[in-house]
Amino acid sequence: MNFTESEEQSALRAAVAELGAAYGYSYYTRQARSGGRLTELWQQAAGLGFLGVNLPEEFGGGGAGMYELSIVLEELAAAGSGLLMMVVSPAICGTIIARFGTQEQKQEWLPKLASGSSIMAFGITEPDAGSNSHKLSTVATRDGDTWVLNGRKIYISGVDEAEAVLIVGRTADARTGRLRPALFVVPVGTPGFAFEPLEMDIVMPERQYLLYLDDVRLPATALIGDEGAALQQLFAGLNPERIMASAMAVGSARYALNRAVGYARERTVWSVPIGAHQGLAHPLAQVKIELELARLMMQKAATLYDAGDDMGAGEAANMAKYAAAEASVRTVDQAIQVLGGSSMTADFGLAAMLANVRTTRIAPVSREMILNFVAQYSLGLPKSY
Ligand SMILES: Cc1cc2nc3c(=O)[nH]c(=O)nc-3n(C[C@H](O)[C@H](O)[C@H](O)COP(=O)(O)OP(=O)(O)OC[C@H]3O[C@@H](n4cnc5c(N)ncnc54)[C@H](O)[C@@H]3O)c2cc1C
Repeated sequence: MNFTESEEQSALRAAVAELGAAYGYSYYTRQARSGGRLTELWQQAAGLGFLGVNLPEEFGGGGAGMYELSIVLEELAAAGSGLLMMVVSPAICGTIIARFGTQEQKQEWLPKLASGSSIMAFGITEPDAGSNSHKLSTVATRDGDTWVLNGRKIYISGVDEAEAVLIVGRTADARTGRLRPALFVVPVGTPGFAFEPLEMDIVMPERQYLLYLDDVRLPATALIGDEGAALQQLFAGLNPERIMASAMAVGSARYALNRAVGYARERTVWSVPIGAHQGLAHPLAQVKIELELARLMMQKAATLYDAGDDMGAGEAANMAKYAAAEASVRTVDQAIQVLGGSSMTADFGLAAMLANVRTTRIAPVSREMILNFVAQYSLGLPKSY
C-alpha cells in the first residue's frame, strides 16, 4: 500500500490546479448567476487532455483510471470551479461505453467524450421512482429493428450542453415478460424527445431538466452492450459516479477551507488574528481531519475500481460519497462562520457553495440510501423497505 502519488499523478494534479487557478470561484458564480455555462473552462481542460484521462488510449483517452479523473475534478473544484458534467460524461457514460459498448458504439462515442468535444448526460431519476430504481417506468419496446422508448426523467443535469443522454430504461423479457434494466443512448434531437428546464434554487452553471420521452424511436444499436447484463453495466457506471461526486465535494470543501484559513490568519478584530481563537481554530482543524479521511476513502474507492474490484469499489465508493458529503457540508458551514458577514456577500461569500455541497447529501444517491446499503451489505442487517 503506497500513499504517495506517482510523478505522473502529481504532475497532473499540479497542471490541473494551474488551469483551475486561471478561472476560480468568481468565474463559476459569475457564469451561474448570469445564466452562462463553464464552456471556456471545459474546452480548455478538454484541449489539455484532462477530461478523458480515464478513457482508453485507442479511443483518444489518456489510458489512466478513475483515480486520475478524480484528481482532475478534485483540483478544479479546489480552485472553485468544479465541472459537474465530468461526473456524468467521461465518468459514468464513458466508462459504461468503454466497458460494455460494442466496437461501433465505442468508435462512435468514446473519441468525442475523451476529447470533451461532446458531452453525454445521464438520466436515471424519475418523478415517481426517486431513490427506488426498481420502480423505473421508462420502457423500451422492441419493434422490428428498432426500440421505442416512453417515459419521464427528472433532475437530469446538462441536457442543454449534451449531444445525447444515456437513458436507463427497462425492456420486457421476451420469455417471462418481466422488466429488466437497459441502457440506451438517445441523441438530444431525436423526434419524441423533449426537455424542459427546472427552476432550481441553487447557484450552479449546470442546469437540471425534466425529460419527456414519447414514442422515441431508436435504432437497435442505441442499446448499450448486452440486454441481459444491464444491471452489471449500471453498477460499473455508478461507482465512478460516486467517486467523482466525492471528488467534487472534497475539492469544493478544500476551496472553502483555504479561503477560511486565509481569512482567519489576516482578519483581526481584537489584538490577535481571529484564527488564534480556539473557537475558530479547532473547528477548522476538525474539518481538515474529516476532509482528509473522506479523501482517503475516495482514493481507496478509485484504486479498487481501477484494479477491477467492482464489489470492493462499490462499498468504498458509497462510504466515500457519504463521508465527502458530510465533511464538505461541515467544512463549508465552518468556513462561512469564519468569514462572518462577508460570507454572505455575493462578491466574496461562500453561502451559495453551502447549498451546492449540500446537494451531495442527496445526489447522485442520498445519504439514507448509502446508510441502507452499508447496514444491509456491510453489516448484514435486515432490510426495512
Ligand atoms: C443538482 C442535482 C443534479 C442531479 N443530476 C442528476 C442527473 O444528472 N441524472 C439523474 O438521473 N439524476 C440526477 N439528480 C437526481 C438525484 O440523483 C436524486 O435527487 C436522488 O437520487 C434522490 O432522489 P429523489 O430526489 O427522488 O428523492 P426521494 O427518493 O424521493 O427521497 C426523498 C428522501 O427520502 C429518503 N428515502 C427514500 N427512500 C428511503 C429509504 N428506503 N430509507 C430511508 N430513507 C429513504 C431519501 O434519502 C431522501 O432523503 C440530480 C439531483 C440534483 C439535486
